[in-house]
Amino acid sequence: ASVGTKIKNIDPTKLTITKTTTPKALLPPEELIFGRNFSDHMLSLEWTAAEGWLPSRIIPYQNLSLDPATCVFHYAFEAFEGMKAYKDKDGNIRLFRPDRNMARLNKSSARIALPTFDGDAMIQLISEFVKTDERFIPNARGYSLYLRPTMIGTQRTLGVGPPASALLYVIASPVGPYYPTGFKAISLEATDYAVRAWPGGVGDKKLGANYAPCIVPQMEAASRGFHQNLWLFGEEEYVTEVGTMNLFAAIKDKETGQPELVTAPLDGTILEGVTRDSVLGLAHERLSPKGWKVSERKFTMKEISEAAHDGRLMEIFGAGTAAIVAPVRRISWKGQLVDCGLADNVEAGPIALQMKEWIESIQYGDEDHIWSHKV
Ligand code: PMP
Repeated sequence: ASVGTKIKNIDPTKLTITKTTTPKALLPPEELIFGRNFSDHMLSLEWTAAEGWLPSRIIPYQNLSLDPATCVFHYAFEAFEGMKAYKDKDGNIRLFRPDRNMARLNKSSARIALPTFDGDAMIQLISEFVKTDERFIPNARGYSLYLRPTMIGTQRTLGVGPPASALLYVIASPVGPYYPTGFKAISLEATDYAVRAWPGGVGDKKLGANYAPCIVPQMEAASRGFHQNLWLFGEEEYVTEVGTMNLFAAIKDKETGQPELVTAPLDGTILEGVTRDSVLGLAHERLSPKGWKVSERKFTMKEISEAAHDGRLMEIFGAGTAAIVAPVRRISWKGQLVDCGLADNVEAGPIALQMKEWIESIQYGDEDHIWSHKV
């Protein structure tokens, strides 16, 4: 975190809490829809170039009032995060690797001339916020409170330049399991007519501006019956990532038959997923000793298609905060349907299942692990 030395950094001791006088009724867990319902409060921090971070506030969830000329509306000064708070079996609230989300938000913000902040201080504030709205964290496996830290430029100007003021706020939405009735494998359409990110671009930052242009290709894929589109890059057709997930493939080596878990490298064209990093970490620790090769390397649609053709493609799955893992049944590519190795009566491969179990047991505190941050 690198804010200037003279101006103020976030000071969690200055937090004030104003409770709502109209608490919301809780929805029955089965009626929760992702991102539709929000908790009673929000965490809010203002920043000015002259003064730095002003005292943080937890206030009733409310509309923002912004001048129509505010720079966020014109030049997309917006960066965000997605993370979750979980209830463990003893009733403790836990965050999963929140330091990663704070580091990523700082990187995203810095890239668009928005202020950075002390990640540890912000984790303390988020902890106070989730404690304030604790009753919105459903107490069951698969349920969580989705947190959306958001940073916007708030200067009232049409001048194109670094915003002289900003707002960092966090809102919270209770969410249910991504697959309420068990895994459902998804199908993907490889997109060859549009590009999500490019070397030297900002595809590795979580900027709102990266997401809006992805909706039309997503709708195109949906119109042909696919759940998501798969972003390829370059003439080589490197496999990069899916809508809001990184992608993993389990492939047997052509010569040796050694299984390899492979995902695209962090070359600036994919988001640095927290789940991706967790899958890689667990794979190195727990799959490598069983003979697996674990790789961050470029791989192409052609390689996937050949492996599928030879019967060497074991499974493919997406990895992200929302679902943890999303098994893939098939990928449409150049008019052919690449079968990703799942038997007809099976909705998830063994590695996807294993990863979900390992990661969930850390998130819900069943396994004691440094990745789980007790609030
Ligand atoms: N890629 C993109 C483009 C995303 O929006 C997300 C969701 N943040 C991911 C990958 C997965 O990242 P994470 O595991 O941190 O949720």
